Amino acid sequence: MKIAKTVAELKTCLEAIGKDKTIGFVPTMGYLHDGHLALIKAAHAENDVTVLSIFVNPTQFAPGEDLDAYPRDFDRDSQLAKAAGTDLLFFPDPTEIYPTGASTFVEVDGEITKKLCGQSRPTHFKGVTTVVNILFNLIYPTRAYFGQKDAQQVAVIKKMVRDLHLPVQIIVCPIVREADGLAMSSRNVLLNPEERNQALVLSQSLASAGALYQAGEGSVKFLKDKIVSQISSMPLTCIDYVDILDFETLESIESIASPALAAVAVRFEKTRLLDNIILD
Ligand code: AMP
Repeated sequence: MKIAKTVAELKTCLEAIGKDKTIGFVPTMGYLHDGHLALIKAAHAENDVTVLSIFVNPTQFAPGEDLDAYPRDFDRDSQLAKAAGTDLLFFPDPTEIYPTGASTFVEVDGEITKKLCGQSRPTHFKGVTTVVNILFNLIYPTRAYFGQKDAQQVAVIKKMVRDLHLPVQIIVCPIVREADGLAMSSRNVLLNPEERNQALVLSQSLASAGALYQAGEGSVKFLKDKIVSQISSMPLTCIDYVDILDFETLESIESIASPALAAVAVRFEKTRLLDNIILD
């Protein structure tokens, strides 16, 4: 596995690979877990070359968010990345990605970026789409791999790729969970034991809603109320949002006719966790 820390090194490595190879690209912020490794393995299985980026992107964090506290361990990550099939690991400094400072942005406008995480993190997706664009422009992947865990990110990136006619195929991989159901996240390590225990309510409340839906309950209000009351029964939780939206467009719905996304964001003292389920 090659490691590139600068754009110049990345270009040299990509030139050596040549233009006739398919490239599978996995963008991450590192502190790798099995969710990330599933993306790398999928890319490795479907492409000639697998490129992984590890970059804690400052433009997607607002002042006061956990940019500095975000967990990092490059040595461990590089070993895991290599074992999962990464051929080229791009690990740049912010000055490599934003050499003139962050002054040019790519932004997906509209409700799709304003709902869910966009309510409490209004500048977040602008940072995400900007850095993903920069990385696509540097790497020119054939396919890029994202996790359904960040369902709104997937919807926003798919829209950006459509709107800008970007020549890349977006592949979405299912949520990888701990044995007890908690969705894997680099931020899980920031939970104290009691929070870690109570965090199970995210997946449990979504699974309960899924079971109600499968049993014939189609009312969005009813299902949302159920999820809210189950999460609120855990005293260390603070709900950021609970919503059920059209799966493709993220538009609001009153009852579930086509696939819907039930998504939650819950804060613990220092840590905000996401989870979701597709109701289909
Ligand atoms: P992050 O490092 O958190 O920015 O995540 C990098 C990529 O891994 C994103 O596409 C995430 O959606 C994906 N990812 C994170 N956690 C999981 C998970 N538990 N299962 C599947 N994909 C995940």
